[in-house]
Amino acid sequence: MTVDVAKKKRYFRKNIDFFKFVEKIKLWPSRTGTLHGIKSMTIRGNTAEIITHCNETFQIYNSKHSRAARCLRNKLFFHTCSTCKIPDWKLKKYSVTYVNQDYGSRL
Ligand SMILES: [Zn+2]
Repeated sequence: MTVDVAKKKRYFRKNIDFFKFVEKIKLWPSRTGTLHGIKSMTIRGNTAEIITHCNETFQIYNSKHSRAARCLRNKLFFHTCSTCKIPDWKLKKYSVTYVNQDYGSRL
């Protein structure tokens, strides 16, 4: 007798905690449209401090509706930071992260 185990598919929940998402992809878009790599992230309640590899500090808010959240979801950035030197594999991983999501293959 075989037990039929349903295969569990894994998706990012649409309402996944924004901080968790940022923590996972370790990328942050600045206001000028540059994508930085995150060196460290300190969460303090509803805000977090991000330090990028180029030593810039960003204060971010846990909002899925913020500019940055939209940028990350829609992959709206113009170039990657040359100081942060985000490795290719990380960008690739990021580029497929949201394929199953709302905006997936628009780019
Ligand atoms: Zn940078």
